[in-house]
Amino acid sequence: TGQTQEWLQQYVDDWVAFYRKHTSDGEVASYIPVLQQADPDDLGISIIGKSGMTVRSGDTEIPFTLQSISKVISFIVACMERGVSYMLNRVDVEPSGEAFNSIMHLEMHQVEKPFNPLINAGAITVSSILPGKTSDHRLEPIYLLLEQILGYRPELNVEVYESERDSSMRNRAIGYYLLETGFLESDLNVTLETYFKQCSIEVTIDDLARIGMVLANDGMDTKTGEEIIPRQIARIAKVLMLTCGMYDASGKFATYVGIPAKSGVSGGIVAAVPPRVREETMPFTDGCGIGVYGPALGDKGNSIAGIRLLRHIANQWDFSIF
Ligand code: GLN
Repeated sequence: TGQTQEWLQQYVDDWVAFYRKHTSDGEVASYIPVLQQADPDDLGISIIGKSGMTVRSGDTEIPFTLQSISKVISFIVACMERGVSYMLNRVDVEPSGEAFNSIMHLEMHQVEKPFNPLINAGAITVSSILPGKTSDHRLEPIYLLLEQILGYRPELNVEVYESERDSSMRNRAIGYYLLETGFLESDLNVTLETYFKQCSIEVTIDDLARIGMVLANDGMDTKTGEEIIPRQIARIAKVLMLTCGMYDASGKFATYVGIPAKSGVSGGIVAAVPPRVREETMPFTDGCGIGVYGPALGDKGNSIAGIRLLRHIANQWDFSIF
């Protein structure tokens, strides 16, 4: 009802105001120079329920790039294009316990394939498997899927793309390692270009909330009932988000928040809250998607205030899937 909505809005406004103070505990990513231009005090959240009920608060209008959140999308698209079993033969689904851009674990553990598609080594492998000779061909199905979910075609932030491309020594090192070990399926330069571009697609927190909503619904568009992502693939995506979505802070996030979510170094987080069976009057019991933006990051590369805000809301509204 209108009254509940007002009441929820009040809560979320208060929580955002409170956690905005926590942004000073973190720092904006600097290894991609352009990302450093973000305002560290920004914090915003958008929650979209199945019924269409929406609660938005804080800095809701600021565009930012997907960064690592794109890894979920590219994995989904690769599964849709190449099949699930093909993909699972080429990237594992195990948390690595290492930083997102770790190269060490690849060599140290003599792995048969990258640990999972949400760390850079796995994501770059996925970008090499996407069909298409040029990066723009490979990105097309990613844009098409996003367009279906968002209702508009998002755009590439060229400045971020160029900045990432020009400061990509470590990702190139990972790429060369993958090339040497035979994990990479196609040309390294096209693969890296695809990866940098997918990371530089620009969105808002409302967009992330919509993506989260579709995943929460096992891939179904809540309005039309249309299957946008096959159920099996949507489920695997959520498993990966839960076990690997917060890099080497994923276990803590699962413990304290308990919902499938994926972060990116620009400060975005997408979360999918599936429907819960509950008698009491918690909001969003039929599931919701959440988008968060807060560019000040903690030491694992996740939005520091964003995670604390999510944790607070998840505990207040009983969002944990466990
Ligand atoms: N584009 C970034 C990188 O590859 C994405 C990493 C992230 O968001 N954690 O370094």
